[in-house]
Amino acid sequence: MSETPFLRSGSSEELKLLAEVSAMLTLIDPDQLFERVIGTTASAFRAERASLLLFANSLSEQKAALLEYRAGLPVQRIAADGAGFPDEVLERGLAGWVRAHGEGVLLANAAQDARWVHVDGVTSAAGSAMCVPMSAQGRVLGVLTLQHSTPSRFGATDLSVLSIIANQAGVALQNAHMLRRMQQRERQLAAILSAMPDVLLVLDGAGRVLLTNAAGAALIGCSEPEAVGQRLSVLAGSNEVLAQLMDAIARASDDQVWTMDARASSDQHDYAVTVTTWRSGADAPGHVVVVRDITQLRDLNRFKDEMLSMASHDLRSPLALIVGYCSLIALEVTPDSSINAFLDAIYRAIERMQGLLDDLLRVEKIRTSPLEMVEWMDFRLVLDAAVEHMRPFFDARSQTLEVQADFDAPTMVHMNGQLVRQAVENYLDNASKYTPEGGRIVLSAELVDGRMKVTVADSGPGIPPETQSRVFEAFYRARSPDVEGVDGRGLGLHLVKTVIERHHGEVWVQSEPGKGSTFGFWLPVN
Ligand code: ADP
Repeated sequence: MSETPFLRSGSSEELKLLAEVSAMLTLIDPDQLFERVIGTTASAFRAERASLLLFANSLSEQKAALLEYRAGLPVQRIAADGAGFPDEVLERGLAGWVRAHGEGVLLANAAQDARWVHVDGVTSAAGSAMCVPMSAQGRVLGVLTLQHSTPSRFGATDLSVLSIIANQAGVALQNAHMLRRMQQRERQLAAILSAMPDVLLVLDGAGRVLLTNAAGAALIGCSEPEAVGQRLSVLAGSNEVLAQLMDAIARASDDQVWTMDARASSDQHDYAVTVTTWRSGADAPGHVVVVRDITQLRDLNRFKDEMLSMASHDLRSPLALIVGYCSLIALEVTPDSSINAFLDAIYRAIERMQGLLDDLLRVEKIRTSPLEMVEWMDFRLVLDAAVEHMRPFFDARSQTLEVQADFDAPTMVHMNGQLVRQAVENYLDNASKYTPEGGRIVLSAELVDGRMKVTVADSGPGIPPETQSRVFEAFYRARSPDVEGVDGRGLGLHLVKTVIERHHGEVWVQSEPGKGSTFGFWLPVN
């Protein structure tokens, strides 16, 4: 079998081919790449005809196509979407065989090989041919065929070189698609970020801005490119919201979502800040900060609080009146009257309303009056009292309550023990209520950086991310099938938040649906 003379090792043609192949690998436009593969190989091996058949779905965006080259003419795309390429070539022809076997074939005399299906305008009637797969990561993306009317035109070395080039082209095609997808994603991300009204800041471990959006740049007071690469501490200057952000970041610890409120006194704006840590390899953890302007919400909330406070006071008297008249009616009816059943229903409804008003008044009182009975108390005693009170609830539902609170010595905290105990009990009550029977709950308390950190972790249904920020609101109850059947008024967590914030502490929740929830708070010890 003869070898083409121009591919002799070190020949100028070989060097030219090498240079063209390496240039081909840098192409990021798939169409240019296809034309280059077919044109370069056809001219290097002096083929009279060449074709590149690309399979549909060989890469996500790739449609089936057939490109053809004839000596002296530019490469032509003669069929798109596979149309025009006869099925018989794929079924019993050479291209089909190469696709199925994933290896190249050399035909010294095409006329004598049954796999050489002659198709007018696509393949030569006879002569020699080389057909190789264009693959990447074990998948055949296309088939490249070179033809010549003379038998034994190509040799084994030609086939090896052609196979290598075709595979390089396969890898280049895959890279081109990957790059295109990345560019698309980048454009999508940029569009999302600029459309987002919330401020987004992504910081590296040294506090430098890696990414921000238009809202972030507006808060900082410079353009996005100016902000990127700068330390937030430098950008903060005298911006009071950014100063509060840095404070939140300094306090954010690993793997927790920190939420806090910030306020700009200059323009009376309120913000909700969420800080999450993120890691890139072994570097110090960075932070993702999202700041939402909640001024409008806060105003509405204030209005709601005022309405609730008014309602909780003003509804008591009419309720008392209803109870009074019901008692009078009861005196007027005979014991066997059906009216007694109606009166019972009224009493039950009144009881529910009074319970609600009591809760409201309690929250209102804790929120607005000076904290009473604040004293130095051993935190362990408060925990023990809460656990002792709640234990029967866990036992009744066959749940395990594990307490992890090993203090070497009495740990004194300045607090209203009664209220803090109630906060712990509310967390435990929810953990038991929302965790299925037989579940496990862990209450832990530890001193961290001079603060008492308390967490209650359950093995319940968890809370979807979009509702986590709302569970501490008054009357908020999540509407998911897991929790809807559970009795409650949506005030327990609000009470915890009010109590803890009155002690200058903070509450938080961390949860993943299906993986349970961890509710926590910290209290300053001093
Ligand atoms: P409720 O009286 O409804 O329990 P809370 O203020 O205690 O009121 O809780 C508010 C909402 O937060 C609940 O309705 C529930 O949807 C959700 N929630 C609270 N604790 C848990 C928990 N441990 N697991 C899952 N969801 C919880």
